[in-house]
Amino acid sequence: MSSKLKEKVKVYLALRSGGVCAHPEYQVRLTENPAGEDQGAIIGEAAHIFGEKPGSARYDPIISIEFLSSAENLIYLCPTHHTLIDKQRKTHTVAKLFYWKTDHENKMREATTAPSVEVTYDEIQIVTGSLSRTILLQEVQEARKAEEHLDVIKNGLEENLDLLTTTLTELGEIDKDVRRRVLGYSRWYEPASKDEIFQKLAVFGHERELVAFNARRLQDDGLIQITENHYLPWNEEVCQQAAESLMAEILRELEK
Ligand SMILES: [Zn+2]
Repeated sequence: MSSKLKEKVKVYLALRSGGVCAHPEYQVRLTENPAGEDQGAIIGEAAHIFGEKPGSARYDPIISIEFLSSAENLIYLCPTHHTLIDKQRKTHTVAKLFYWKTDHENKMREATTAPSVEVTYDEIQIVTGSLSRTILLQEVQEARKAEEHLDVIKNGLEENLDLLTTTLTELGEIDKDVRRRVLGYSRWYEPASKDEIFQKLAVFGHERELVAFNARRLQDDGLIQITENHYLPWNEEVCQQAAESLMAEILRELEK
């Protein structure tokens, strides 16, 4: 792994790879849980497909420096397979590695985009801030048991949705969805980071640029302010409504 690679590029590659080695014959998970007094660890490596300098595996002088250090030229591997592809260079050609990469990343994307489930459990955690998945599921199960509780949530949602609906009128469906989610994830307490929001919206097929564009429009509307790492809400009420609207989706999914 090159130390010149930007941390952001490596994180992006690891996310896109689902934290799993892209070698097609193994499914090695590249995050290790905390053990004893040790913290969790990342053991994945960002390996160059086209080599980064003369003498390195699969080097080609025609390739631009910009492409060389971009995520498009990197494949996420365990240390063993990283070593292997750089030692057995004739077997591990550029074409083969691009095929491994693309196939692996597509599979990971599909695995996290179940068509019948519009809201992922990871999203639940963002929407609900510090609530853990376990606590939330317990709450939902309680709510299922007590229909009353569920009705209270639903009624509360319906009463509160007017302001959000007004805010999002006359937008295309995709822009509406993106802005509502940005607002929901940016709500007053523990707002999700930009990277988290990009990642969550990528699951729905929304490109980073589209999300950033819509966030800028939300800023123009005075609903959020954009900082280096966050979209921070100015309007607590609208963000809260958007978060509740995401919560409503989750409840609908769980009721099925
Ligand atoms: Zn591996």
